[in-house]
Amino acid sequence: MAEPSSWIVHKFGGSSVANADCFERVARIVQQGSGRPQGIVLSACRGVTDGLLNLVTQAERSDLAFEAGLGELRDRHIAIAEAVLKPGSAAAFIADLKSDCRDILAILQTVQLIRSAAQNVRDRVAGHGEIWSTRLFAALLRERGLGPRGVEWIDARRVVVVRWGSLGPVVQWQESAERLRAVLPAGFRGTAVITGYIASDEQGIQTTLGRNGSDFSGSIFGALLDAGEIHIWTDVDGVLSADPRLVPDAQVIGALSYNEAMELAYFGAKVIHPQTMAPAVERGIPIWIRNTFAPGKAGTLICAAPDSPLPVKGITSIDGIAMLNLEGAGMIAVPGTAHRLFGALREDDISVILISQGSSEHSICFAIPEAQAVRAEQVVRRAFDSELRQGQIQSVAVDRGLSILAVVGDGMAGSHGVAAKVFAALGDAAVNVRAIAQGASERNISVVIDGRSAPKALRTVHSRFYLSPHTLSLGLIGPGTVGHVFLDQLATQLARLRRDLNLDVRVRGLMSSRRMLLVDGGIDLPRWRELLDQEGQPADLRAFAQFVHAEYLPHAVIIDCTASNDVAASYRDWLANGIHVVTPNKKANTGSLSSYRALREARRAAGSHYLYEATVGAGLPVIQTVRDLRETGDEITSIEGILSGTLAYLFNVFNGEEPFSKVVSAARSRGYTEPDPRDDLSGMDVARKLIILGREMGLDLEIGDVQVESLVPEALTKCSIEEFLQRLPEFDAAMRKRYDAARAQGKVLRYVARLESGGRATVGLTQLDVRHAFANIALTDNVVRFATRRYCDNPLIVQGPGAGPEVTAGGVFADLLRLSAYLGTHV
Ligand code: ADP
Ligand code: ASP
Ligand code: MG
Repeated sequence: MAEPSSWIVHKFGGSSVANADCFERVARIVQQGSGRPQGIVLSACRGVTDGLLNLVTQAERSDLAFEAGLGELRDRHIAIAEAVLKPGSAAAFIADLKSDCRDILAILQTVQLIRSAAQNVRDRVAGHGEIWSTRLFAALLRERGLGPRGVEWIDARRVVVVRWGSLGPVVQWQESAERLRAVLPAGFRGTAVITGYIASDEQGIQTTLGRNGSDFSGSIFGALLDAGEIHIWTDVDGVLSADPRLVPDAQVIGALSYNEAMELAYFGAKVIHPQTMAPAVERGIPIWIRNTFAPGKAGTLICAAPDSPLPVKGITSIDGIAMLNLEGAGMIAVPGTAHRLFGALREDDISVILISQGSSEHSICFAIPEAQAVRAEQVVRRAFDSELRQGQIQSVAVDRGLSILAVVGDGMAGSHGVAAKVFAALGDAAVNVRAIAQGASERNISVVIDGRSAPKALRTVHSRFYLSPHTLSLGLIGPGTVGHVFLDQLATQLARLRRDLNLDVRVRGLMSSRRMLLVDGGIDLPRWRELLDQEGQPADLRAFAQFVHAEYLPHAVIIDCTASNDVAASYRDWLANGIHVVTPNKKANTGSLSSYRALREARRAAGSHYLYEATVGAGLPVIQTVRDLRETGDEITSIEGILSGTLAYLFNVFNGEEPFSKVVSAARSRGYTEPDPRDDLSGMDVARKLIILGREMGLDLEIGDVQVESLVPEALTKCSIEEFLQRLPEFDAAMRKRYDAARAQGKVLRYVARLESGGRATVGLTQLDVRHAFANIALTDNVVRFATRRYCDNPLIVQGPGAGPEVTAGGVFADLLRLSAYLGTHV
């Protein structure tokens, strides 16, 4: 911490002074710091610099819209002044503003006549934004008494003197310091409100410090005032690991070195201006990047020796790059080629962003802003004219539409594997690398890539360094009976999964039959219903899958909790594209054998995972048991069981006293059957489960191969549900008869599924000994008995509740964890 008595400089960017509310917010921050001398550097209100520059461009084109445009800018400032100032000081501000606008109009009219504006004319107009924002703010502080030790308005043009060099403006420190002493009253230790962005050249003509130059102003005044700290206030929580507009997952970097910050800024992290660092570095002044809209947050500290374990701090990209490649055997071992090349470019003011030369010296390539590509090519051709004619240089080729991706961090020096990670990520994302440069400082690895793949590249590389490798983008379809229970279960476990398994599950998509909700950072699970209702959009399966399959997250899974054929029909595509699928929906596994095989083939080819434990026995480990038996080399001879919770219940309860039809209606009213009980009684659901098990055993079964005994009387198959329920008693006597026949032999009735390794598959009502395992299950229990080579005398039995939303959702959840284990999480 700096001495409490020393100056502190706060710079507020355009986004921090966008409107009247913003001015109020900034005033509160300034008030809190008013116990010590402070310099408040302000940018123009958001968009005003762009607006003013646009007026000049319009005037050059003789587009008279500049008059109205100027009026709008004026009115915007008047509105802010009237909102935050008392009438008297507002009127004074407005009078000055109007006078400035008259001057600007005169300049614009001149530009319109000449049809072109020199740089200093442009600067002159553009600089007004900062004059207005600071005058307004100084008036606000004064009239509210927020600068108890005095408020001074400082026009930086009267203080900061720069000389324009080839690398930008160079501050003339001595002269600037003298001028500041002249401008600031002797011994002043109150609040100085200072214009950002603008300065004067040595002739006294107004200039600017370049776009986003107010950050530079902040550190220049930090140096001139010998400040203990510089705070740059903006609209994000600090310097982020990547541009948040491109990488929604970007994280705040706690601390950066000046060098790291400089590299990030140079390679496009717009949050700070690259030149900001120099004055602070020389004097060792720490810079904080903070959020005006969340002043309580710590922000990012930029200083000489930050304490940070991260080898990579940030990843940036710059678009609009062209690459020029110079190739020829004539360059090999000829000293001075690079000198001539870059000398020529320098003469023509072409700024080279990156250079790469192979050690064979056969070619040199360099990256430049695309806008300078044509000129650069001419310069190079001219400089190497004779070599080109004599064939010592074979080609000069220009490639456009490229981007540079830069990975920055001091800790890369001396740590291995960073470059490998970058290139592996780019490779996995199928991004073609055109050129590579790593400075000897090892602080930056830069790669030139195709511009169109830049966002993808940025996100993928970012995820390798910043996310848990076990980050799962999850989309759930069908938040109904099972789906919503699963979401509830998941919500209670997210924190534990992250803590114990390093598994970062993000539910990014939810889709019902009509609506879908897509949230990049993840849906706030406790509020999913309300969010789906209020912020959802019309459902679109393709768009949903595309969104869930976010390229910047390492893994994607779709959980299908519907019973829909349409959804199941998409699994193949999803699996083929690397999206994992988890489902309790039986449709995909019970379709035709050929579509089932295609599904498995797609899964295998893409290395994705397809898990469906909950399709048989809900949460019971049935499918997993089949897999384990087979994979450990056992041979399954038969699988038998009661695979329907509903049918289990009906025959557990049916004891001959109450008619069967009554048992069915009672079960239906308790929610134990499907709305149409025939869906259960037909046995088809059980047959489907048997198919799933059979296919899992490696049998080529089609649904038609299963012999199914339906308990729906033939006469009632086609009628309505009501009629079915009404007429079912007509068949009670027949059912009673079967019951009595079994009982006479000391047996009970159970609806049993059987599958033999030879492929025989049957489903139907069977008489079982009262001591049989299947005769003694409770309520809606399922039971599955595996007879195998190992388990031959005494079979392996899996038994337990096999229906109901809780256990089915539990089965889905177990699959999700199994998936994460496949992806490499460790308990
Ligand atoms: P100000 O108006 O405060 O000067 P800018 O718009 O110039 O703000 O800069 C802040 C913006 O920079 C952020 O809103 C963010 O979108 C963008 N940005 C780009 N890259 C980064 C990064 N690496 N870290 C933080 N912000 C970034
Ligand atoms: N207002 C200037 C610009 O928009 C300077 C700044 O905001 O930093 O470029
Ligand atoms: Mg800025």
